[in-house]
Amino acid sequence: MDQLYDNVIFYRKLTITKRLAIMHSCPECGQNLPNVGKKCPHCDHRFTDEEKAAFKAKQKEYAFGCLGLVILMIIIGAIASCMGDDDGKDLSLGHKLAILNSNERVSKDDATVRRFAYLLDEIAEKTGYDKQRIADVTYGGVEMLKKKYGIEVGLLNFMEEANTALGEGNEMNIRYEDVVTGMIITISSEAGQ
Ligand SMILES: [Zn+2]
Repeated sequence: MDQLYDNVIFYRKLTITKRLAIMHSCPECGQNLPNVGKKCPHCDHRFTDEEKAAFKAKQKEYAFGCLGLVILMIIIGAIASCMGDDDGKDLSLGHKLAILNSNERVSKDDATVRRFAYLLDEIAEKTGYDKQRIADVTYGGVEMLKKKYGIEVGLLNFMEEANTALGEGNEMNIRYEDVVTGMIITISSEAGQ
């Protein structure tokens, strides 16, 4: 429980953008690694040649991914500045989440963008949190399920459930990190892990 909580806090501290950049994790201890040397700095696991090759392949994939992301951001920026974005910040944060949710380009007018914007509003009102922080904590929870437990859940579904878990007005005054932590425990134990 404490370990899980620390992990949620750890993920929360990273922005979505930084998190997109994390992609290597130690096959032994699961810690994220910026680079791959002879062994893992966290658990001293010695990487096999296959593991090193896999990391290199991922690095290549990542380089292309970054290029794609930069192009995507430029396109989104160009479209947004052409159209004039009056909902501004919230919509673009909702847009980022919608892109992460579907793993591909999503139109600014997509229904999921509006749904994310709505959920950000709801959760912000219930918790008093900054929307960026809500986005980071939510995404952190989904990433943790994937990286630590190998469970893939949709970002939108996860956020819907978190909003439901907060109830109508968060009368219990629960911290959003605790809601997300509780969901990770529930989902991972239901999956028998
Ligand atoms: Zn390790």
